[in-house]
Amino acid sequence: MTAVSITVKQVLDQKGGAAYSVTSGVSVFEALGVMAKHNVGALLVIDDGKLVGIFSERDYSRNVALKGLHSRELKVGEVMTRNVVTAAPTEQLAAVMQTMTNRRFRHLPVLQDGELLGIISIGDVVKAIIQEQESTIHQLSSYIAGDLTTYPPPGDSGTHVAAGSEK
Ligand code: AMP
Repeated sequence: MTAVSITVKQVLDQKGGAAYSVTSGVSVFEALGVMAKHNVGALLVIDDGKLVGIFSERDYSRNVALKGLHSRELKVGEVMTRNVVTAAPTEQLAAVMQTMTNRRFRHLPVLQDGELLGIISIGDVVKAIIQEQESTIHQLSSYIAGDLTTYPPPGDSGTHVAAGSEK
């Protein structure tokens, strides 16, 4: 398996399915507090069990702070992004990275048959890829080290003809 062929489900299994959320009626100030408490950069917005939007730090900076508006007076529903792009658990990280890069966002809620399974961030993707690559490097290093200690085999001069060069 290559690192980018890891599936969204595998990442969720590793990190757990927690997805922090608020309702659209809470104030932006309150939502910022929830983000700070859980140390996340985006919250799902869920009304009556339905995913109605996503609210990220960028929504705050662009739709609130830059406009000189006040976070205690605005509701999340007024500044969130409504068209939420989601991922399926079977999707591979290569596809997820492409979506995040093309759409320029860092969070993807994961849905299966309309049921929310969790959320993955660009940080989760990078972490999973690094772990997979480290594991591959470790396996290759062990393989090479093991090979070198027994090479050349007893009674073997160590001189070989490269494959395909024999006449
Ligand atoms: P982010 O980079 O995730 O902090 O978000 C950047 C912008 O994209 C913000 O306006 C978010 O509300 C929006 N956004 C983040 N994730 C998604 C998503 N999965 N679907 C749609 N919009 C998103």
